[in-house]
Amino acid sequence: MNDEGPARGRIALKRGRVKPLAMHHPWVYADAVATVNGSPAAGDLVDVHDPIGRFIGRGYFSPKSKIPVKVFSWKKDETIDAAFWHERLRQAVEMRTGLLGRDDAFGAVRLVNAEGDGTPGLIVDRYGAYLVVEFLTGGMARRADMLVEILAKLTGCAGILERPEAELSRMEDMSRTEAVLRGTEPPDLVEIVEGPAKFLIDLRRGQKTGFYLDQRDNRLRTAELARGRRVLDAFCYTGAFSVHAALAGAKSVLAVDSSEGSIEIARRNAELNGSAVEFARGNAFERLRMLQLEGQRFDMVILDPPKLARNRPGVMKAMAAYKDANLSALKLLDAGGILVTCCCSGLVSEQEFLRAVNDAAVDAGRSVAVVERRGASGDHPYALACPETDYLQCLIARVAG
Ligand code: SAH
Repeated sequence: MNDEGPARGRIALKRGRVKPLAMHHPWVYADAVATVNGSPAAGDLVDVHDPIGRFIGRGYFSPKSKIPVKVFSWKKDETIDAAFWHERLRQAVEMRTGLLGRDDAFGAVRLVNAEGDGTPGLIVDRYGAYLVVEFLTGGMARRADMLVEILAKLTGCAGILERPEAELSRMEDMSRTEAVLRGTEPPDLVEIVEGPAKFLIDLRRGQKTGFYLDQRDNRLRTAELARGRRVLDAFCYTGAFSVHAALAGAKSVLAVDSSEGSIEIARRNAELNGSAVEFARGNAFERLRMLQLEGQRFDMVILDPPKLARNRPGVMKAMAAYKDANLSALKLLDAGGILVTCCCSGLVSEQEFLRAVNDAAVDAGRSVAVVERRGASGDHPYALACPETDYLQCLIARVAG
């Protein structure tokens, strides 16, 4: 599939639904579509037009999705072919290696971040010599061979593994399976380096593509503040915050997660780094309350819960859960303690998250001062025109009294 030729369909937007697209927001919502002409098939290239027939942009068609087109080209005369994608991916890789200096052969980095790199529907993470790809739209999945070929050429990687995203596969009406698309099969656990620490990553069964790369800079920053502190890491996954805190000289580290498999790898990660971390499997919301009843105290609590709001109606419930966890955390902190609290629910705005944490502070009777407001690491850029993809918040705050 070298040159796709002209678009196979034309989508006209409804009146009143043009402005976001004209401002380069890439998502065409299904309810903004007036007509679909040319009977494009799933994954076909389509042009998006305004109600009076003027070209706006071009993307692949996902007829069953709530977002049937994610626009990646705004130029009418741009040809969408292998050379186009080569250039997009080259720029994405160059940003990580050149601008961010993330070219450590044993490092882990997000090389391609969907909308943030002008490649909606494609995510690529590099773990040492291996790439893990996720195709999030049928259009990208259909072009897997071409994209994999380009990625292999650009990175010289040893192997490329595809991780299917079950929920999205359903919405996009595509069936993908886990497969080695290129090169050699990665080992069961790949060892990577992050700052002073080493981590084992399960590329096949781990959460996301195996590791929370978006939290890298927040982990390194948190570790700088952890020295001499009694640290509680409440949603520890494979122990990344905990191991960094221990290596940085924390007095003690207690790490909690509900997933047995994650704790198992976390234990191995602690061992690999020679760091003393105590692990407990359980529901962190309950565990935090129990620790409080037991009269335990900490000087740093890290809260990195999973995405708690999956849709708009879920936001209120999520806010209550964020408040609950933060309230428990604040009750466990001594004066001068540090709260590192995260929210990866893109639907929860910064204002809403800050309110949930403040509600917790008021209920706990504690004065909380925000020291830093942080987001995802630089290898997870988000498109300025598409703020929905700026999903990660991380507050570092100091508890006064
Ligand atoms: N901080 C981690 C990533 C955390 S992801 C890192 O930097 O790698 C969120 C974690 O919360 C997942 O590991 C998930 O297993 C865990 N989790 C989800 N619900 C939980 C609950 N109720 N109690 C404890 N852990 C939970």
